[in-house]
Amino acid sequence: MIIILFGPPGAGKGTQAKLLSNYFNIPHISTGDILRRHVKEDSVLGKKAKLYMDSGELVPDELVTDMILERIRKPDAKNGFILDGYPRNVSQAQSLNKSVKEIGFDVDLAIYFEASKDVIVKRLSGRRVCKKCERIYHVVNMPPKKDMVCDDCGAELYQRKDDREETIINRLNVYLKQSTPVLDHFSKHSKLKKISADSEANSVFNVLKDTLDRLKNSDLEKINK
Ligand code: AMP
Repeated sequence: MIIILFGPPGAGKGTQAKLLSNYFNIPHISTGDILRRHVKEDSVLGKKAKLYMDSGELVPDELVTDMILERIRKPDAKNGFILDGYPRNVSQAQSLNKSVKEIGFDVDLAIYFEASKDVIVKRLSGRRVCKKCERIYHVVNMPPKKDMVCDDCGAELYQRKDDREETIINRLNVYLKQSTPVLDHFSKHSKLKKISADSEANSVFNVLKDTLDRLKNSDLEKINK
């Protein structure tokens, strides 16, 4: 099963991808997470990507596409995967289509998370992430038990540089300009399901689970009702 989670930054894709990954036992592949690891390790790719990421711009396609294609060919992805943060423009969507076909797959469903601007800004500015295991928290909606400490691994939480208010606006503009045309591509080339992502994480997850359980049962017509 190949599922693409698509939508603006702050719509909750990362949180839902982690829940879905546990539920379906397939890997969560996030381009943002992989790129942040490269930046942390100060790799050649990390050095090239950092400036774009800090300012909320997209990292050039040629850097991201090779990285993601290498990842989806790994053995743990052989039964499918959940893509979060890729594709982000039409050229990436075309590369992905071609590559999944080459490895004998098809995209089963693209899920579009619709979220209002208010919710997005509140979610991103309150988001905190574990430095070690990358678990996502929110200072109000999903706080850790102990301030700025991860419940799971005890490591310190941090605020992503690009979650500061001045960068959030640029990320939203980049999304509107470069990523929304991908919706048309999904409508033409894969099944697209829109869901409202404004409510809290558990309610969104229940809707997702229901949608994907139906997909597993090949009840595709009902999904779009
Ligand atoms: P995210 O964690 O998905 O919000 O991504 C954080 C940042 O990583 C983005 O603002 C981009 O700079 C970069 N990034 C993540 N995914 C992509 C992608 N598919 N194409 C280009 N840049 C990306």
